[in-house]
Amino acid sequence: MSKLNCQIFDSMGDTELKKYLHSKLKSCKIRVISNELSLKTIDSKAEVLGVFVDSEVDKKVLDKMPKLKLIATMSTGYDHIDLEECKKRNITVCNVPNYGENTVAEHTMALILSLSRKIYPSIKRVKEGHYDFVGLRGFDLKGKAIGIVGTGSIGIHLITMLKCFETKVIAYDVKPNKATAKKYGFTYVSFDKLLSRSDIISFHVPLFPSTHHMINKKNIKKIKKGAYLINTARGGLIEAEALAKGLKSGQIAGAGLDVLEEEELLQNPKKILYTEKKDRDGLLKTNQMNKFIVDHPNTIITPHNAFNSTEALKRIIDITAENIIAYSKGRVQNIVN
Ligand code: NAD
Repeated sequence: MSKLNCQIFDSMGDTELKKYLHSKLKSCKIRVISNELSLKTIDSKAEVLGVFVDSEVDKKVLDKMPKLKLIATMSTGYDHIDLEECKKRNITVCNVPNYGENTVAEHTMALILSLSRKIYPSIKRVKEGHYDFVGLRGFDLKGKAIGIVGTGSIGIHLITMLKCFETKVIAYDVKPNKATAKKYGFTYVSFDKLLSRSDIISFHVPLFPSTHHMINKKNIKKIKKGAYLINTARGGLIEAEALAKGLKSGQIAGAGLDVLEEEELLQNPKKILYTEKKDRDGLLKTNQMNKFIVDHPNTIITPHNAFNSTEALKRIIDITAENIIAYSKGRVQNIVN
């Protein structure tokens, strides 16, 4: 039996990770590119494509890969892949569910505590040679209402942690699970009630057309004045312009974000030039809003890094390798399309 021809784009560029991938996929012919996907580096003969979330797999990419049978994304989310186009071409797409529920929840908790105790400006103050606490007063989490949007794997892990801080947790999910709510001690409410009652709102839903701009220019006014927003799910859930306006007016006291709408433009603004002309003005505006959000004194932003722990990466590689090997044996698993 001939070996499956796999091309993997590993934007981590990590030598250890590369070695580990090779050791796990000995039964395949694999080529690892230590970068995100680009049209120039695509292998048109590859049957399997492995990518992280920063590699967009669109029609142009698929056109260059006529032999492609399987896309194994090394992530839970798959909004960077054109699933419709894959379906038309009979390409199977699989993901890595549940590799990082504790990992992402821990990062979310770190963002919440950093905001509540002003950790970033406190550290900065001391590193800059000052040793006073003027203007660095934080607030207790104990007794605060925390609104969790999405009670899947990550949301529930976060709720478990938040309960230890004696917070009151309320939640919204399109599929509420009463037994889970009872078990973990929280209450489901409508989305509007969650917005108006929470002192801190944290997002843990996938990016779908139904969740795109869940927070927007219209409903941001429904949020309790002075609340904090946390987003470690996907940038597109919160409209950048709405958040920028909310921060400016003081409606939103601050934000802890691991993701931003169109975040890739912060790293590579030239991408705007390669997008269709009709979409450019919108992207330019979003990019400007992102810069305002990043520079705002009450925000802390991390570079889509919530998944990035040694243990989580090992789990990602293990499950991705299992997905590819299962496919090579005619058994498909973790399919999303
Ligand atoms: P999950 O599938 O276990 O849970 C998602 C929850 O969202 C489910 O309970 C589902 O019912 C709910 N949901 C779906 N559509 C909804 C809607 N329209 N309104 C309200 N609720 C809705 O997913 P998870 O493992 O908890 O991950 C959540 C998201 O976190 C992922 O989709 C991914 O985008 C993101 N993520 C980010 C990172 C990172 O590094 N920042 C890492 C992993 C995952």
